Amino acid sequence: MLKLASYFESLAEDGAVRCNLCPHRCKIKKGGAGLCLIRKNIDGRLYQTSYGEVTSVNIDPIEKKPLYHFYPTSKILSIGTNGCNLKCEFCQNYTISTQETFREEVSISDLVNLAKKHNSIGIAYTYNEPTIWFEYVLDCGKAFRDNGLKNVVVSNGNINKEPLLELIKVIDAANIDLKGFTDEFYKWVKGDLETVKNTIKTLFENNIHTEVTFLLIPNRNDNIDDFRRMCKFLKDISVDIPLHISRYFPTYKCTELPTSIEKMIEFYKEAKIYLNYVYLGNVNAGDNGNSYCPDCGNLLIKRDGYYTEVINKRDFCEKCSKKLYFQL
Ligand code: SF4
Repeated sequence: MLKLASYFESLAEDGAVRCNLCPHRCKIKKGGAGLCLIRKNIDGRLYQTSYGEVTSVNIDPIEKKPLYHFYPTSKILSIGTNGCNLKCEFCQNYTISTQETFREEVSISDLVNLAKKHNSIGIAYTYNEPTIWFEYVLDCGKAFRDNGLKNVVVSNGNINKEPLLELIKVIDAANIDLKGFTDEFYKWVKGDLETVKNTIKTLFENNIHTEVTFLLIPNRNDNIDDFRRMCKFLKDISVDIPLHISRYFPTYKCTELPTSIEKMIEFYKEAKIYLNYVYLGNVNAGDNGNSYCPDCGNLLIKRDGYYTEVINKRDFCEKCSKKLYFQL
């Protein structure tokens, strides 16, 4: 379905437009599409062309987003569409992010009813990049809010500040992919590191529950000094931001071998120097998937795969009273 896009301007020449939603600021000729595939210039105006159209609908554990500190053990309705404004050679969802596929139209009220029927805490915009679906996420988000339900985005964080500030009015929680910590890495994936850093900062400062995921790829972003700078950057925002270090496996165009367990543990230990909550993902994490009180070491949440058991049922430590970064 077509929806007139937000954040575009008409250019003088031949009906071309500029999209100002993300740092690419694509200049799009009549009949053309932006780098994200899904925002198109039709007769001199920019449209979001997958409004209300989904490629995937699932009920997932919230831990799968991953969000470990936001209503643990709850279920969340999860949807996505086509397109992405990055070009990662290691994309795990490349079948829907790099091309247009079959999409099913679904009304917002049907999604609200579906969420209620399955006792979902709300909806997660995930699978592909949700910020390029801006108009739909905003409308859907308002409806979910009106029904007392939560909105979650799982995003690469490549969105300009002005639309971000509009979007977060309806967002309750976010997991942002911080894919590397050098301009060189972000050049490779066609993104902008400073924008992602700004997004994480803005979310946290606006009291949006924020967690961060870092996919550790051998020979690409496994420089420990760069990673240390990343951890320090997160710590400067808040020592409480949960960091998920995810294990890479070869996929799509990326042929590096899987990340070794030794490397995962090395990065886990490094992150723990700076941050209160660090987790390993895509790996049999053992104790590295549990949550502990940063002060007294009390076990708060036990996790094994997607099995989750909340032991400490308050947002403070029941043993030492430390205030914890959890929404329960
Ligand atoms: S959202 Fe899409 S069309 Fe708009 S600037 Fe970004 S990549 Fe280009």
